[in-house]
Amino acid sequence: MKDAERSSDTVFGAIVRGEIPADIVYEDEQCIAFRDLNPQAPTHVLVIPRTGISGLQQADQAEPELLGHLLQVAQAVARQEGLEADGWRVVVNVGEAGGQTVEHLHLHVLGGRQLTWPPG
Ligand code: 5GP
Repeated sequence: MKDAERSSDTVFGAIVRGEIPADIVYEDEQCIAFRDLNPQAPTHVLVIPRTGISGLQQADQAEPELLGHLLQVAQAVARQEGLEADGWRVVVNVGEAGGQTVEHLHLHVLGGRQLTWPPG
């Protein structure tokens, strides 16, 4: 299966297509951002590209402009959620050991509480 097909064949592909509802907080031509179903912080938003890339393990196959755009959208979401003053975090889980469960690239934007380090 091609990487684009693998990522569209996930729950996030279904959200992009509007087949599964999501609490969308931002969208543009390249990506959408929506609240995580199982939030790990008062703000927990996922930023995903509309088109398929299964994860950062395929970063060298993606458009650099798209990867940069996703980071700028993460900042826009953090600003929109009122996180800028206190700080916030972006997490990208990669592969099994990284804790990735959905094979469609996504940035977690987390904030609204003091986050600890190191992560679990
Ligand atoms: P990962 O573990 O792959 O880095 O993150 C996947 C995230 O997607 C998890 O935080 C999980 O709670 C979230 N998630 C899984 N299924 C759904 C869904 O159907 N809707 C939403 N909004 N989030 C989901």
